[in-house]
Amino acid sequence: MRQTQGSMICPQCGKLIGVGEEKCPFCGAWQPSLYGYAPALQRLFGRHLDLITVIVTACVVLYVAALVLQPSAIFQWQGLFGILSPGTRALYQLGMTGGVAWQQHWWWTLLTAIYLHGGLLHIFFNVMWIRNLGPSVDELYGPARGFVIFSVAGAVGFLLSNLMSGAPSIGASGSIFGLLAALIVFGRRQGSSVFTAQLWQWAIVMFAMGFFMSGVNNWAHAGGFAGGWVTAQAMRASHEKRESPGVQILALALLAATAVGFVLSFMRVTSLLLGH
Ligand SMILES: [Zn+2]
Repeated sequence: MRQTQGSMICPQCGKLIGVGEEKCPFCGAWQPSLYGYAPALQRLFGRHLDLITVIVTACVVLYVAALVLQPSAIFQWQGLFGILSPGTRALYQLGMTGGVAWQQHWWWTLLTAIYLHGGLLHIFFNVMWIRNLGPSVDELYGPARGFVIFSVAGAVGFLLSNLMSGAPSIGASGSIFGLLAALIVFGRRQGSSVFTAQLWQWAIVMFAMGFFMSGVNNWAHAGGFAGGWVTAQAMRASHEKRESPGVQILALALLAATAVGFVLSFMRVTSLLLGH
């Protein structure tokens, strides 16, 4: 993974430099190759990691896993939004936040709950919005910054809902509001009022709809929007600056924390159920 010779693109200024360079000769950035690991990170985020495919696949796989873990819940009719709803136990096992998880201080559920959904319509609409907004965020900010925005927005949304209501909660909608906020932040910077007006309209309509439907976590929506806004403000756009190794490492750390979180929730909840 570590590259010790050859050339690479400076993450700071985008010029071609030697991997062994201690300081970029063009812009003066220190350790541009991050001891030889920056080229590997650039390759990973440049070609191998398709952000939206990773997120959507995780949502679908975990939804199916939740149904399989507790098949008895599948056929309980709970209304239109309850079609193919995973059971509560399975959702806790896979990292639902709020409720018992929050009482137990399982902080990682702020991340894992993003990828869980409570029914066929819930996952259908969220995946639709992710596929709708995600590619633009991926392109305008880059995949690492995009993933940081998605994760932080979702986590802030759940943190707010856990503090304000404490009810068990799941779903990518907080993160989706974060993606909307990130696109609005970008549009404002570009001075593109038509673009931002359209996005504001979507955000307001989606937020208002939450109050007319039952079981919608409005705190997570508001927190996700705020979290996405602040994170996007702290990020540069792709055309302004390449993603730095720092942001790429942060994205990988969030990815790892989320993956470890699924394992932790599964182990903790399963051992609680078994009475240990
Ligand atoms: Zn440079």
